[in-house]
Order: sequence, then C-alpha cells, then structure tokens
Amino acid sequence: MDVDASNALQGAFGEHINILHKLPDLVESAVEVRSSGPLLDGSLDALILPGGESTTIAMIAERNGLLEPLRAWVRSGKPIWGTCAGMILLSDDARGTKQGGQTLIGGLHVQVKRNAFGHQLESFIENIPIPALGSEPFPAVFIRAPTIEAIRDTPEAREAGVQVLATSPSKGSCIVAVQQGAILATSFHPELTNDTRFHAFFARHALARIADAAPASA
Ligand code: GLN
Repeated sequence: MDVDASNALQGAFGEHINILHKLPDLVESAVEVRSSGPLLDGSLDALILPGGESTTIAMIAERNGLLEPLRAWVRSGKPIWGTCAGMILLSDDARGTKQGGQTLIGGLHVQVKRNAFGHQLESFIENIPIPALGSEPFPAVFIRAPTIEAIRDTPEAREAGVQVLATSPSKGSCIVAVQQGAILATSFHPELTNDTRFHAFFARHALARIADAAPASA
C-alpha cells in the first residue's frame, strides 16, 4: 500500500478533508478551521483535530484564541475526533514531554504517552482489527505515535465510559483507539490511507449524536 505521510508532521488536515470529500452521502462539506468563529457560531457539526506536533499545535491554538473554544466544544458534547497529536491534545494527561508538561484541551479521560514507540520505530503500518469497522483489518499508519497508557480511574472517567476500539497486536496490545461519548481518538492516521471506513464511522457517529440532540418534532 502507498501512504503519503509527507504532510503529517505539519498537520494532516488536507488529507482529512480529501477523504471526507469521498463520503458525500455522509458529509455535506468539510472546511479548515483556523479561528474561533466557526467553533462558536454553530455552523459546524463535528470537528477533527489532526496530527502534527502537539506542543506546537497547542501553542498555535492558544495564540489564535482557539483553546478555550475547543475546551467548550468538548464540554458541550459535540462530536470531535483527534488523530495522533490531536489525540494527545484531547487527553487529560500526556506523558513523555521532555520540557515537562504541555497545554492540553483535555476532556478525554485517559493518560497518553507521546512518541511511545521510540526512535527505532518512529513510523510503521500495521493491519489491526477494529471490530467497529467490520471484519477486515484496518491499515493503521503510526507516525511518532502516542499510545493510551491508561484509562483514568476516576469517578468522572467511570461515568463517561471510555471504550477501547482498537489495540495493536504487534505492540503488546497497547491501546491505539478509543471512544468516550462524542469523542473519538486514534494513535494512527486513517487520513493517510485510501480506506474511508474510519472517517465514515466518525461521520455516522456524529450524525447519530446530532439526531439525538435535535428537539423532537411536534
Ligand atoms: N509525536 C507527535 C507529538 O507528540 C505526534 C505525531 C503525529 O501527530 N503524527 O505531538
């Protein structure tokens, strides 16, 4: 399989948009968000936080006044999916940051480890089973990927219910995809493959939550 990972470290938003455009039955439009306006004006139904470098993304988000609107988005229970660095930003606790600590959006009650696979294995592809997507394994692209080391053991986390969607068979069954209500998070980059199943899963999940949130018609 060919995978174009050249953009991933700069933020793979273009690739997410391309793959969403392949799902016209589920996704009406997909746009880049660079300011808080669209997060606050109700024009968006769902959000993807792309990969990249989580410390840098957090700094840029803070500088552009996006951090609080993103936290409010998560708190309000609107659908959001974080891939790789996006997953780090959504987590309540991130380890493996040299300078110690980094700004997070939080709300996903897990502890992640950044760059969990070390230097010798910075990037790799593994076909992993993801039962939520059907019986065919999914080609998971890992690029300096984080893993979920633990689901937090707090009353909040137990109430929210973090479900494991996928583990990596070759890496000691470490957790690489989870769902917590409206939040999805993956260590890997489905946007760098030709497989649309994860994006379709997110879009269906978002549509279901929008239908649940809509007031019942009289
Ligand atoms: N290693 C990056 C970080 O810690 C994440 C890499 C990615 O998003 N592909 O932020």
